[in-house]
Amino acid sequence: MYTDKSRRKFLGNAALIGITSTMLKANSSGEAFAQNKPPQVALSAKSTEQAAQGKRAGFAIHGGAGTILKSNMTPELEREYRAKLTEALMKGYGVLSANGGSLDAIEAAIRIMEDSPLFNAGKGAVFTSDGTNELDASIMDGRTLKAGAVASLKHIKNPISLARLVMEKSPHVMLVSDGAESFAKQQGIELVAPEYFYTEKRFKELQRIKEREKQQSDAPKKTSSRATTTDAQTSAQVFFDEEKHGTVGAVALDLAGNLAAGTSTGGVPNKRFGRVGDSPIIGAGTYANNQTCAVSATGDGEYFIRSVVAHDISALMEYRGLSVKEAAQIVIDKVGKLGGTGGLIAIDRAGNITQPFNTAGMYRGYINARGEPIVEIYKN
Ligand code: ASP
Repeated sequence: MYTDKSRRKFLGNAALIGITSTMLKANSSGEAFAQNKPPQVALSAKSTEQAAQGKRAGFAIHGGAGTILKSNMTPELEREYRAKLTEALMKGYGVLSANGGSLDAIEAAIRIMEDSPLFNAGKGAVFTSDGTNELDASIMDGRTLKAGAVASLKHIKNPISLARLVMEKSPHVMLVSDGAESFAKQQGIELVAPEYFYTEKRFKELQRIKEREKQQSDAPKKTSSRATTTDAQTSAQVFFDEEKHGTVGAVALDLAGNLAAGTSTGGVPNKRFGRVGDSPIIGAGTYANNQTCAVSATGDGEYFIRSVVAHDISALMEYRGLSVKEAAQIVIDKVGKLGGTGGLIAIDRAGNITQPFNTAGMYRGYINARGEPIVEIYKN
């Protein structure tokens, strides 16, 4: 078993390739690298042998779903998203190609997205109503069905790594808040000052939401006895209407046939009362089982918890024999009927990948059969 330090060293060395921004000329259809030679990942001798035996690694990521429209995006920002998603994809796939484990690939890719201010996870997390940042994450090993989850963290730079330590170094599945951070200290995990998570973009977003909330609660209330708008309804409306995306996740199939999934988020902007969404809830935001699939979700957490999204997909495959694509679509449709928006990524044990969503867009990517990264943002 790795120590945290040695694991990080391994993750740092494991990716065999690097990509440069000049390689990242995405075309308008959302297919990165279409006009360029795709970055290639060198296969180790063992993985070449496994590939010859028909074994293949599979890897997919997401960076959140929501009202992501080309009309709201500058070409420069789009390039930044594509570059970061590609970097995370290639890092994770590099681990798998070097015959690394699916958990290592998940952790390596998610750490890259957590360290980027582009995503609502780690650096770049949304603000709570109190002006703080509270982070959640989870990871699951499809081989052992072991899982680790953390919630309401305020000082952990890479929550996905702490979730993994909970899984591997504690008898528990989920640790929250101060207790989780005490465990982190004990494990020698890096703690950061709360200011580390500050980004101007997210802070301004909080101010905008608060202003909107104030305007709505100041607006004259309806007085009909059947349609009285209560404060609770107003805040629920603002809460669910608010644009929220940027949660990150990854699913992997390694060359040994092991599936894993991980998810990391800052939750939803303006959250209060210690609100926790689906991302750190095993079975809702994250699930992996070697017999079926690995899933990472993103969207309106309350609806994803109530629909037990990630496990429901696995259950449809296990008990009804559906394909990962069919199962994932049924579950996303169910969430939509309840009123929830979002999406998910899922991979089965044969490496089939599906990435359904019911929003305008979802930052997402996968490695195709030729080992090339495909990054997409909008609906095709
Ligand atoms: N699912 C996350 C949450 O509810 C948010 C998101 O994925 O956008 O905390």
